Amino acid sequence: MNAISVKEYVNLEKERIKGLIQAQSLSLSLGIVQVGHVPSSDAYIKGKMKDANELGIKAVLFHYEEDISEEALAREVVGLGKRKDIDGLIVQLPLPKHINEKAITSLVPSNKDIDGFGIDSPFTPCTPKGIVDYLSDLGFAFRGKNAVVIGRSSIVGKPLSHLLLSKDMNVTVLHSKTTKEDTAFYIAHADLICVAVGHKWLIDHTYNFKKDAVIIDVGINRGEDKHLYGDVEPNMPVYLQTPVPGGVGLLTRLSLLKNLLEAKTHGI
Ligand code: NAP
Repeated sequence: MNAISVKEYVNLEKERIKGLIQAQSLSLSLGIVQVGHVPSSDAYIKGKMKDANELGIKAVLFHYEEDISEEALAREVVGLGKRKDIDGLIVQLPLPKHINEKAITSLVPSNKDIDGFGIDSPFTPCTPKGIVDYLSDLGFAFRGKNAVVIGRSSIVGKPLSHLLLSKDMNVTVLHSKTTKEDTAFYIAHADLICVAVGHKWLIDHTYNFKKDAVIIDVGINRGEDKHLYGDVEPNMPVYLQTPVPGGVGLLTRLSLLKNLLEAKTHGI
C-alpha cells in the first residue's frame, strides 16, 4: 500500500480536476442553500467555496433567515433546482428544527443532487465516496478483508457499509446498542475500521488493533478547548490512521467537486 496522506492525495486530485476543467473549458457552478448561521455550517460552507474558487468553479451561496417557513424555503429550493446556470445544488444541514430536512433535500432535482442524499440521486454520498476513492488510491486490497463500520447513519455509516460490501469486504456494522466487549472483538479482527459516531475518542488505546489495519476517522467533535477531535484517539498502533482535522472532511469536499464534474460532463 502507498501511504500517501489525505492532504497530499486531495491536493493531487484537485490539480487533476482543475486540469480537466481547463482542458475542456468547462464552466461549472455550485449552488449552496444555507438557513440561519450554525457555526460549523459556516465553516463547512467556507471550505466548499474555497475549494470551488481554487478550481475555477463558480460557487453561489443562497442564504435565508433562520425563521423562514418550510413552505417558503421549499419554493426557493424548487426555483433554484430549475435554474440552468446551476449544475449542482446542495442544502447545508442542519436546518432549523421547524423545517423537515428530508422534505427540503428531496426537492433538489436528482440530476443536481451532488450530495447524494436523495433516494433517486445518481451520485454516491460524498463522505463514503471520498473514503473509498482514497482507499482505492492507496492500493488497499478490499476483497475478502474485514471491515468494521461504527455508526449507521443514512449519510455515512449505511452508504459506506454498502460501498465496502460492493468491494467484496466482510462488513460488520456496529452502533449504539453494540457492547464494548463486542466492539473490541470486531476491532481486533478488522483490517479496516471506519468510525462515524460523533463521540470524542470513542475508540482509544484500550482496544487491540491489527498492526496493518487502516483506521478512517469520520468523527468531528469540538472540545471544550474549541479544538476539533476525532472519534479515535490519535496515533493508534496501526498502518494508517486519518487525522482530524485534515482527514475525512477534505475527502468529503473533494467528492463534492467530483460529483459536480460528473453532473456536468455526463449530463446526468
Ligand atoms: P449520526 O447521524 O448522529 O449517527 C451516529 C451513529 O453513531 C448512529 O448510528 C449511532 O447509533 C452511533 N452511535 C452513537 N453512540 C455510539 C456508541 N457509543 N457506540 C457505537 N455507535 C454509536 O452521525 P453522522 O451524521 O453519521 O456523523 C457521525 C460523525 O461524523 C459526527 O461527528 C459528524 O460530525 C461526522 N461527520 C463528518 C463528516 C466529514 O466530512 N468529516 C461528514 C459527515 C459526518 P444508533 O443508530 O444506534 O443511534
